[in-house]
Amino acid sequence: MSNEISGNEIRRQFLEFFESKGHTIVRSASLVPTGDSTLLFTNAGMVQFKDIFLGTDSRPYSRACDSQKCMRVAGKHNDLDDVGRDDRHHTFFEMLGNWSFADYYKKEAISWAWELLTKVWGLDPTKLYATVFKDEKGEIPADEEAYAIWCSQPGMDPSHVQYFGRKENFWEMADTGPCGPCSEIHIDLGPDACDMKDVPGHVCKVNGDCARYTELWNNVFIQYNRLDKDTLVPLAHKFVDTGMGFERIVAVLQHKNSNYKTDLFAPTMRVLRELTGKTEEEMYADFTPYRVIADHGRAAAFLIADGVTPGNVGRNYICRMIIRRAVRFGQQIGLNDAFMGKIADAVIESYGDAYPELRRNRKAIIDAVDWEEARFKKTLDNGIAHLNDIIEGLKKEGKTVIDGATCFDLHSTYGLPLEITRDLVRDQGFDVDRDGFLAAQEDHRKASGKGSFKSMNSDDTEIYDGYLKQLISDGKLPEGKVVQDPYTLKPVDTNAVMLIREGEPVSSLDEDDEAEIVVPVTGFYMEMGGQIGDRGTIIAEDGSEFTVESVRKPCAGLIVHRGKMTKGSIAVNDKVKVEVDSRYRHDIMRNHTATHLLHAALHQVVGPEARQAGSYVSDTRLRFDFNSNKALTQDQLTEIENIVNENILSDQIVYTKIENINDAINEGVTALFNEKYGEQVRVVRIGENGNISAELCGGTHVANTGEIGLFVIVSEGSVATGIRRIEAITGREASARVRKAAGNLRTLASIMSVPTEEVVEKVEQNQQALQKAVKDIADFKAKLALSKFDELKKKTVTIDDTDVLAVQVPDATPDTLREMADRFKNEHPNAVGVFSTILNNQAVFIVNVADELVKRGIKAGDIAKQISAVAGGSGGGRPTMAQAGGKIPEKIPESLDMAVKLIREKLGK
Ligand SMILES: [Zn+2]
Ligand SMILES: [Zn+2]
Repeated sequence: MSNEISGNEIRRQFLEFFESKGHTIVRSASLVPTGDSTLLFTNAGMVQFKDIFLGTDSRPYSRACDSQKCMRVAGKHNDLDDVGRDDRHHTFFEMLGNWSFADYYKKEAISWAWELLTKVWGLDPTKLYATVFKDEKGEIPADEEAYAIWCSQPGMDPSHVQYFGRKENFWEMADTGPCGPCSEIHIDLGPDACDMKDVPGHVCKVNGDCARYTELWNNVFIQYNRLDKDTLVPLAHKFVDTGMGFERIVAVLQHKNSNYKTDLFAPTMRVLRELTGKTEEEMYADFTPYRVIADHGRAAAFLIADGVTPGNVGRNYICRMIIRRAVRFGQQIGLNDAFMGKIADAVIESYGDAYPELRRNRKAIIDAVDWEEARFKKTLDNGIAHLNDIIEGLKKEGKTVIDGATCFDLHSTYGLPLEITRDLVRDQGFDVDRDGFLAAQEDHRKASGKGSFKSMNSDDTEIYDGYLKQLISDGKLPEGKVVQDPYTLKPVDTNAVMLIREGEPVSSLDEDDEAEIVVPVTGFYMEMGGQIGDRGTIIAEDGSEFTVESVRKPCAGLIVHRGKMTKGSIAVNDKVKVEVDSRYRHDIMRNHTATHLLHAALHQVVGPEARQAGSYVSDTRLRFDFNSNKALTQDQLTEIENIVNENILSDQIVYTKIENINDAINEGVTALFNEKYGEQVRVVRIGENGNISAELCGGTHVANTGEIGLFVIVSEGSVATGIRRIEAITGREASARVRKAAGNLRTLASIMSVPTEEVVEKVEQNQQALQKAVKDIADFKAKLALSKFDELKKKTVTIDDTDVLAVQVPDATPDTLREMADRFKNEHPNAVGVFSTILNNQAVFIVNVADELVKRGIKAGDIAKQISAVAGGSGGGRPTMAQAGGKIPEKIPESLDMAVKLIREKLGK
């Protein structure tokens, strides 16, 4: 059906509809949530607005709409098992949403939802249902307001507005905090959509068990704050938070009975049919593998675009697991050649317009999935064989669950993620211990020195919010917040409006008190975007001094200086001078600007796929992590150093400008995947017109690159799978290091009595002389050993017609032993020679047997093998000549005795 509305068009219509109702269209946040370390992935539209609901931040708009990238892999919202087995579950999906931040409320939200569904998209009102909240316990008031608004919508059948209880229609963020009733819109897809027709007694209904009535859209009305289990207080500012599953509305509007049959997945399904040679009918007959590959391939492309590469823990593990799971399902439908790159390409084709980060990172995405697919295939056969052994063992023991440690070993040693192990064993009636696996994984992470996720600390937000309100109502913060300007570096003359000790406001601070000070205006920079915070002082008129160790923002609008009274005392409202430690700050700024130059040089030398994966800027060094599977060569590192230092020597201008986010991104400014950006962003440019570097950045920078002085790379290495790290130094630190190296060189030169420029040549000469001396000594020792041969020969034992010499030769090399063996053989026609020595603290044996004796069953290889075993080693060789080693040189005499004994036995003596 070519005249059917496309998915991209539906997304655009949603956003434009709400834009026409005064909403600001907001970009989707990254799949990697910032500022919320409790969350593995962004899993709902509201994640990027959570701080507004919690009251810790604000936005320049009060109405917003977006299409948010979401990922749900495990936990209460989703079970990976469902993905692929049915037509509506996904790991990655999009959530359409509109928000009111203390602006419009139920009346507008409901009537706009109705207008969009029935007027713009033309859905039949008689097929639509609305649910509203009525507390089954009778404690919270029923949402009669929403009920009445729904009944008054044009074409709404009042019998289609139905009350439900807490489970369905009351939304809470957590055990405490913002909450409220919600209202869902469901659609009746008709009796054919019921997938439970065969179940006796089944009745199709809203919020029932079958697929006939499907939820389209949830409108949450946040009107309470939950203080504890029993106490709800009304919020002064009410919010609307809505979410509509994008894939589902597309399926409904395109009249498809499966999300996977919509045009969103069409390019992927086309590629899969081309690769398998199957028709559409054949594909639908065995649709599960196709659904899994389409879902996981899409999720992997979006994850990698947001900087999450395949790896062993956390988000990286999820990325690895879904790629591998897709590859395995591919094998089920006969895809034995690499195919994941083609799937990723199809995803980029479908989604590249709406999510330009996919196009920008195309090479990184395809490289990562190709690499992961190839790596997995190398280990898959071994992994499956090992798993089969485990299953056989469990069957004998009568067990049906594979324990966590074994599951983790299957993952870490055999490359089988837990989810794939479960896929593989499920049909045989086995299960896996997920909790045990997670525990083993966590132990491993701790052992490898990486911290676990810390929980969010919002403990004192409310208290400090109270202090802020107090200061505002006392008129002490004329701007309604603490004004921060870290960019000018001028001391600020102001007064100390609040002193806080042990969390409580106090009237004065005495010497040695550890405390926090609030001033209306500050020039301090707070740790952010990888740049460490400032240090400095707050000095009173009488010279009393408070040393500032750090700066923090306990709630929106309030910045506090943390530190210690190092001299004298300060009282509330004293006049003070707030001064950032300028020398310290300049060291930081040098490193930050150098980080931008390094980033640009990396793109030049390695390519745009070397994307920033993290950065840390302090006063002493800078650290830059980027995506790459290969180590940089020494030549590349030198080239990068040269480029950065060229840009320093040519003293480029560094300047900043506040711009609209979309303009900046369209101009090609480098934005980071894991940062959250507002509407207005700060762009830091280096060079005229920013030709050298242009990055979104809130950090502080030098005015001209010449101030950096010198840039030196001190290390390059791997920090995680696919992530490399460069550490570098600048300015004072770099020149100190260079001076120290020069001093060492002068010392070396004076020890060797040559000018500094001849040190390298001199060292090379000395090395050659040393090597020659070592060799001369070895030759000399060998000659000395050979000269003792006549002496050693006296130990020859004669057994009938056979001469046996089994001796230990001091200070010999294997060559000397071999030469002795040859001589002995030449001198004695029926000879067995066993020569041994100690080399590098190991036993060495050479066994030599005359041809004549070989015919009589004496074989050098056999003897070498047996006698070296005595000395804790092994060896072997030809029947006439063999060599062996042993770890226990003290056992050489015992080995030699055994040799003689063995020969005697063979000769029958
Ligand atoms: Zn049904
Ligand atoms: Zn920066």
